[in-house]
Amino acid sequence: MDNYYKTREHQCITKSKHGVDALQSLPESLAELGVKKPLIVTDPGVVGAGLLDHVTGVLEQAGYSCAVFDQVVPNPYVETVGSATQVYKDNGCDCLIGLGGGSSMDTAKGVGVEATHEGNILDWEAEKRDLERRIAPLITVPTTAGTGSEITVWAVITDAARKFKFNVGGPLLSPHIAIVDPRLHVSMPPYITAGTGMDALCHAIECYTCHWSQPQTDAAALAAIEYGAQYLRRAVGNGQDIEARYGMAMSAHLAGIAYGSDSAGAIHALTQTLGGYKPELHHGPAVGATLGAFMEYNWIGNPQKFRRIAEALGVDVGGLSDRDACLLGAQAIYDLAEDIGIPSLADLGVSEDEIPQLAEAALNDPQNCGNARDMDKQGYEWLYKRCLGCI
Ligand code: NAD
Repeated sequence: MDNYYKTREHQCITKSKHGVDALQSLPESLAELGVKKPLIVTDPGVVGAGLLDHVTGVLEQAGYSCAVFDQVVPNPYVETVGSATQVYKDNGCDCLIGLGGGSSMDTAKGVGVEATHEGNILDWEAEKRDLERRIAPLITVPTTAGTGSEITVWAVITDAARKFKFNVGGPLLSPHIAIVDPRLHVSMPPYITAGTGMDALCHAIECYTCHWSQPQTDAAALAAIEYGAQYLRRAVGNGQDIEARYGMAMSAHLAGIAYGSDSAGAIHALTQTLGGYKPELHHGPAVGATLGAFMEYNWIGNPQKFRRIAEALGVDVGGLSDRDACLLGAQAIYDLAEDIGIPSLADLGVSEDEIPQLAEAALNDPQNCGNARDMDKQGYEWLYKRCLGCI
């Protein structure tokens, strides 16, 4: 309740352009920023889906030439950012286009930092050192509907030496313009749609219930949950459903706004540290595999809000006790995960003997603080055991 007695801040300095064919506004966006030579940062899957050609086509038609770095990997490394920065410098680029999911957009953010600061991205880990300058002009073009990285003030980068995914962040890292075009999402296969969509829902649920929440982010988070509940099944079931793709793109985008200037919560502490240990693991499915248990565990930290989440998920909570309403909200998430084919944590390669080490790592992640329910090692062990079916 301290929040009422503290002056809080909320700002979102990224301009959003969104809608079917919003990508056509890319050349005018470059002109708005007064830049001429972009580096497109993307990954082989996005290239394979034909999306890079689509973007370079729009640029060429408007007379722009660009350089390309297409070697982003999931859970991108410090070295991934370094290689992309080298291409940026070698080609005399003056701006960035982050084209892809969170991995590509975060790598582009990292290049934006390295282009304007000394050292490498590792030197700018959040909570150790604040950024000093605005990053190089960055246009984000998401091709997944999940992380909301197109509008968040965070980049998540993997330090292989520590097996740790660290954050770099702050308003100076905000993308300058986000172009959200659901046409770029129709090529996502169902399992990526499902995992990234659960990530968007998770951001909204965590941010709505964490101690840093505030009315502005609450509004965005609740709408994000409603969009997710309405459209995620449809987007997975029929990838060409452009209304569902737009709805999910907006779910992710609004959840990104809710992510605001603060962090998420226990699930992101858990899944981000898990991703550090198992870099081959995709972030979205891991989030989807743990969100139901998170709801079950966390509701006692803020029953009113978890009750409201249940409503936003479509549960009729009329006449129910808080306990029943909140647990039905958790069940709604379990049902959604099952309907859209989210794998279990065991299927994702996590085993019971790893729990103590993984729980300890989650507890030490900075996103742990602010979670609706106070977390300790036993809490994270409970979450892992519940997801692995041990309890
Ligand atoms: P991703 O960027 O790793 O992409 C996953 C896969 O989807 C890739 O193989 C990619 O090629 C493919 N893909 C993407 N778009 C496609 C399309 N339209 N058609 C076909 N294939 C497509 O996945 P993600 O979940 O978007 O991002 C995860 C990363 O983002 C993690 O590193 C996570 O920690 C980070 N993250 C960042 C933030 C933030 O605020 N910056 C928030 C949450 C998570």
